[in-house]
Amino acid sequence: MTADDCVFCKIVARTIPAALVYEDDSVIAFKDIKPEAPVHLLVVPKAHIPKIGDVPEDQQALVFHLFRTAHRMAQQFDIAEDGYRLVINSGDNGGQTVHHLHIHVLGGRFMRWPPG
Ligand code: 5GP
Ligand code: ZN
Repeated sequence: MTADDCVFCKIVARTIPAALVYEDDSVIAFKDIKPEAPVHLLVVPKAHIPKIGDVPEDQQALVFHLFRTAHRMAQQFDIAEDGYRLVINSGDNGGQTVHHLHIHVLGGRFMRWPPG
């Protein structure tokens, strides 16, 4: 999948709608269209980076910023104190279906372990 037909690039570009909850110069966050928990957000770099292993060496700060944003979203949605789960699926066996890096922020209920 190229950036041209990437659903998250389209959300970044506002060519398809999403329930945005945060945006700055390098990241965007929005509600997952098919929530698996009472709070289910996606924190996404604006740049089209297919998966976590593709983050360029010189963009380490972006990874930190994604995680900081995920935690701030958990605070904003009032799940930080009770606890929440961050998930990054990578590749087919990891269950990745959208090939643009994203962190799932899941909470508002007990998150079972192990995952399926
Ligand atoms: P993955 O399986 O790649 O880790 O997660 C992709 C996530 O993106 C899924 O949870 C799916 O529900 C969500 N998703 C896919 N298409 C859209 C969309 O067009 N809008 C929003 N808000 N979420 C989407
Ligand atoms: Zn993309």
